[in-house]
Amino acid sequence: MTRGIHHVTAISGPAHRNLGFYTRTIGLRLVKKTVNFDDPGTYHLYYGDETGRPGTILTFFPWEHVAPGRVGVGETQETRFRVPEGAVGYWSHRFVEKGVAHERPEKRFGETVLAFKDPDGMRLALVAERGIENEPAYSGGEVPAEHAIRGFHSVSLLLHEAEPTGAILADVLGFSQIGREDSMVRYKAGRTGIGGTVDIQAAGDFLRGRQGGGSVHHIAFRAADDAAEFAIQRKLADDHGIRTTEQKDRNYFRSIYFREPGGVLFEVATDIPGFATDEPVSSLGQALKLPAALEQRRKEIEAVLPTLAA
Ligand code: ZN
Repeated sequence: MTRGIHHVTAISGPAHRNLGFYTRTIGLRLVKKTVNFDDPGTYHLYYGDETGRPGTILTFFPWEHVAPGRVGVGETQETRFRVPEGAVGYWSHRFVEKGVAHERPEKRFGETVLAFKDPDGMRLALVAERGIENEPAYSGGEVPAEHAIRGFHSVSLLLHEAEPTGAILADVLGFSQIGREDSMVRYKAGRTGIGGTVDIQAAGDFLRGRQGGGSVHHIAFRAADDAAEFAIQRKLADDHGIRTTEQKDRNYFRSIYFREPGGVLFEVATDIPGFATDEPVSSLGQALKLPAALEQRRKEIEAVLPTLAA
């Protein structure tokens, strides 16, 4: 069974600023430049490693004039990447040099965590992990391979209570509860390294979140293929009374969506076919790719999309 986070999708302000931050400052690769299939006048930008493997993909819907979101209950609180243990000093220095808002490194669950924010105020962190320095990393940008991001570490969800969502993680999505620190409960998907951890912070009666710039829109979890995805769909319905959407073809994966009991939008996305389905790995992210149904409207779509200087 394939487990863990497939991708995280968030809302941002201007596309060019988002692109500059995630490729130049953070050193991810733009692996797909397409549009929001449900709102084709808006970009959908995908960042990841060299090939955009599941567990490395952070995606954005950039809106030029988005109102800022407010973090609150029923939302993703923080999205975290893995970096090698020796890279924390490099990143602290880089954040100072590049004027990135960040906090002093702190210990959580025994690991060093460096929290920072993107230009829209999205809450992010780097988590130092032992023994991952030899894992593949994208180093085509300014960040050298030895310090580069190795996919997602985890997300944390800020919820009213941990148990109902924890039950879905454990019973349906292949996670188990492995620890607790203060009001944070940690779930891990087997031995999955990349994207294998979800934390739930139980906040009780805290203010509800409001989505906007800097907010996570949804979290997608991995299914190897359609059969695995439909099995999850059936289990949600039969054992938890949760109806998902019908399967949607997102070109690079096929997805179902549902609102988990704590209010966060969850997606289940297939590992197949991946990002090299409509352009070669060597030139991922360079051309604007449209699904077949939108290809005939390409001129009209290109005319309304903001210019993206590389
Ligand atoms: Zn998604």
